[in-house]
Amino acid sequence: MIIAVDGPAASGKGTIARALARHYGLPHLDTGLLYRAVGLNLLRWGGDPDSEFAAVRACDFAQVDFDDPELKSETVGGLASRISAYPMVRETLLARQQDFARQDGGAVLDGRDIGTVIAPDAPAKLFVTAAPEVRAMRRHEELKRMGRTTHLDDVLIDIRARDERDMGRSTAPLVQADDADLLDTSDMTIDAAVQRAVALVEARLKHSA
Ligand code: C5P
Repeated sequence: MIIAVDGPAASGKGTIARALARHYGLPHLDTGLLYRAVGLNLLRWGGDPDSEFAAVRACDFAQVDFDDPELKSETVGGLASRISAYPMVRETLLARQQDFARQDGGAVLDGRDIGTVIAPDAPAKLFVTAAPEVRAMRRHEELKRMGRTTHLDDVLIDIRARDERDMGRSTAPLVQADDADLLDTSDMTIDAAVQRAVALVEARLKHSA
């Protein structure tokens, strides 16, 4: 069983995907980490993010430590958002994600194009979203916990810029799949959002059985 979880930055999709993976005993892939790894490689190698070829060269995960806290930084997130618009970067990362999705027993993947491009046949798809102001507040809190000082206004500007890039790109833009269930977490606690996500997946599975 493949569960696809898509949505914009700080919508809660990662938390929900991890909870679903635990609930169903499935492996989980945060596909944003792959794009962040490319961004971090570029940063460390001094590659030009305006060059699609440099970004493709940076799609080399041999040296990447996926537990590196730098992967979660705003700088690397911004670079990930820029290089993820390149068709050749997306193409290079495609097989890795599809292999993960198609493993025996299934998997949970979260990202921007899981339900539309990576696993369009997934029986359960969620599109998790929240108001930009709510997402900015959540990201601001997360950054504070990580000891990084930022202004809420700057975080909101960054979230809006990322939304625009993710939704506006021509290759695999962020969009709700026709057969995805919408889950707006703006006014929900984490527990309530997870409960709702499980209920939506259960309903889909019953339907497809
Ligand atoms: O989800 P996260 O914020 O970690 O992703 C970092 C960036 O990678 C996003 O802003 C998005 O532009 C890109 N991304 C993508 N497709 C995915 C996952 C992430 O374009 N499946």
